[in-house]
Amino acid sequence: MENKRKVLMQKYEFGNLLGQGNFGKVYYAKSIGTKQSVAIKVIEKEMVRKVGMVDQTKTEISSMSLVKHPNILELYEVLASKNKIYYVMEYADGGELFNEVAKGKLREDMARKYFQQLISAVEFCHSRGVYHRDLKPENLLLDDNGTLKVSDFGLSALGVSKHQDGLLHTTCGTPAYVAPEVINQKGYDGAKADIWSCGVILFVLLAGYLPFRDSNLFEMYKKISTADYRFPSWFSPDVTKLLSKILNPNPKSRISIAKLKTNSWFKKGFKSKSLEKTSEQDLPRADTDVVFGSEANTAAFETMNPKDNLPKLNAFDIISLSSGLDLSGLFTETKEKKEVQFTSVHSASAITSKLKDIAQQLKFKIKTEVGGVLKIEKPSRGRKSALAIDMEIFELTPSFYLVEMKKSSGDSLEYKRMLQEDIRPALEDIVWSWQ
Ligand code: AMP
Repeated sequence: MENKRKVLMQKYEFGNLLGQGNFGKVYYAKSIGTKQSVAIKVIEKEMVRKVGMVDQTKTEISSMSLVKHPNILELYEVLASKNKIYYVMEYADGGELFNEVAKGKLREDMARKYFQQLISAVEFCHSRGVYHRDLKPENLLLDDNGTLKVSDFGLSALGVSKHQDGLLHTTCGTPAYVAPEVINQKGYDGAKADIWSCGVILFVLLAGYLPFRDSNLFEMYKKISTADYRFPSWFSPDVTKLLSKILNPNPKSRISIAKLKTNSWFKKGFKSKSLEKTSEQDLPRADTDVVFGSEANTAAFETMNPKDNLPKLNAFDIISLSSGLDLSGLFTETKEKKEVQFTSVHSASAITSKLKDIAQQLKFKIKTEVGGVLKIEKPSRGRKSALAIDMEIFELTPSFYLVEMKKSSGDSLEYKRMLQEDIRPALEDIVWSWQ
């Protein structure tokens, strides 16, 4: 008996699930009229609202329809029902580029070919004023000819999605691909930040593992900020030289795309595609008001006053924290995670005062409280070192926060017990989801 396939707005017939991304599910589908294969990303509107990103999403949809390039996954159209948004995109049936890397590091000429395509896509987007800021393996797909297709240019804003179990997909792992200035929120140049991520990607293609690895988020930040990494012995001197210019923690002196394109390693065999601007009439114009309806105004959603000096992660960064791109698990043994994280839709000050209350109840002393970081310590008993916990609040969006707690010293068993029996239950009323 033939399966009854779901049909979207009498236009597309849904097929298999292709993947579960940070946004929601992606399905294979076929256009009923033209029989063309497409991929449809389905996003819950509620999710977008919940993280307070309606306006940003509208911008993203508009910017996505502005970029048309052989190495950028094309957005054909955006459809919306009462509760869902459907992104109808070009179908890339070669899978993710990083499936290739998972099989083993790439030969230099292959890595260069993909890197050239990546830079070509990124340069094109920058010329249109669109910055990805979330370049990472999941966003690099291949079509059936093995051509690289960068996905989510612009769409990346919706970095989180709620699973059926109510948990966010951002089971934080690592900001592995994010430039240091993005993490430090010094105000950054999107172009330079994208170049950094391209450098990390090139490193991974050639090495088979990440340049910055640490199971601890704070240690990872440190390594990224100081560009603390080492080249494997098999990297050629030319690529080593180029990567040192890209993975420069100072965005001002980091190589630009224009300069990179003159580099002799990069130029080898590079075929610059004609990057003609697509005339705007050719493009499906996504009517963002149709997508969200006029009620979809950020004003309709609660916005909290973030504490000014909190480390701000934008939505692009949230995705960079997602487990999906934590390749370290692929290449190294994963250690037990020391940190515990949860998200909250309460204000930063409400979260801080809750954390302080709990600390007080559990007889901890507050050692420091700066820039969203709260360090608490319980006076030591006997010879045991004092139990100390670091708590850090990250702003994901103005109304959505990530809190990370980790033991900095003391007995692990005592910490685990306290976390389980005292801290977690006490936090329940401010937690949106545990990671
Ligand atoms: P994303 O939400 O973009 O991270 O997508 C989740 C997963 O779905 C990806 O990692 C791919 O495996 C798959 N996928 C997304 N978009 C496409 C596409 N246009 N063609 C084929 N597979 C896709």
